Amino acid sequence: MTYRGRFAPSPTGHLHFGSLVAAVGSWLCARHAGGQWLLRMEDIDPPREVPGSATSILEALSAFGLIADAPVLYQSQRIAAHDAAFEQLRAAGQVFPCWCSRSELAGIGGIHRDGRCVAAPDPQQAPAWRLRVPDVAIEFDDALQGPQRQNLRDEVGDFVIRRVEGFYSYQLACVVDDAYQGITEVVRGQDLLDSTARQIWLQRCLGLPTPAWRHLPLVLDADGRKLSKSERAFPVDPAEPVPALRRALAFLRRPATAASVHELLAQARTDFDPANLPHCSGHSPA
Ligand code: GLU
Repeated sequence: MTYRGRFAPSPTGHLHFGSLVAAVGSWLCARHAGGQWLLRMEDIDPPREVPGSATSILEALSAFGLIADAPVLYQSQRIAAHDAAFEQLRAAGQVFPCWCSRSELAGIGGIHRDGRCVAAPDPQQAPAWRLRVPDVAIEFDDALQGPQRQNLRDEVGDFVIRRVEGFYSYQLACVVDDAYQGITEVVRGQDLLDSTARQIWLQRCLGLPTPAWRHLPLVLDADGRKLSKSERAFPVDPAEPVPALRRALAFLRRPATAASVHELLAQARTDFDPANLPHCSGHSPA
């Protein structure tokens, strides 16, 4: 089976340093495996989208020498497939409509359980749609973070796969499109580790294959927060890509002494072993 990895940014702003680390990490794993590295633009959340950022992210990636092996897949072009997956779940009785307000949800501890909505149906208003989850632990092995288990009923509850506005959730679109792109290993930031059990459950419900998982540690700022909140301290300037690329490679424990983007990437690929990627989130080496 051909290895297929991907980087799947959301167009919610410019490429930041944390995303660059995930992009480089996933690219290195794909190159190491002799497989393909694909790009997917997760542009299915118009209210959160920042105009121009999809183009700016793709331009930045190419300035960093990260060129996909196939045309970019735009999730906004995949709505018919997301609709079909939703209908499959609805036909199988795995989803239910939910009219809960924020306060009603707060009243049940923020976790919706037991496969039915606690609010009264409101024919005047479109519902959100939730996927029923089982009361068993979903277990998986993460190549970097080790064995994981999550009981979706206890820790997440029946989760939204289609929002009131009609948009599909990240979880549904991600699973449908990872399968469509034939992704064999998902390499992404550790902030998404918590989504993985939900995605495995969706894969099972839809009869889709489950890829391997490798969650990269997060780059933290001086206060120990996820980096995206303090981008100014770690500028990613596509006009001058070498400093940020060196820093991203150093975070991933790769040599980073070469002078140009292409030499840096070639140097980083040489003798790369995914097992030597860092496991724990931390600060970027300056
Ligand atoms: N689009 C998601 C993000 O930018 C990442 C999705 C994924 O890698 O599964 O956070």
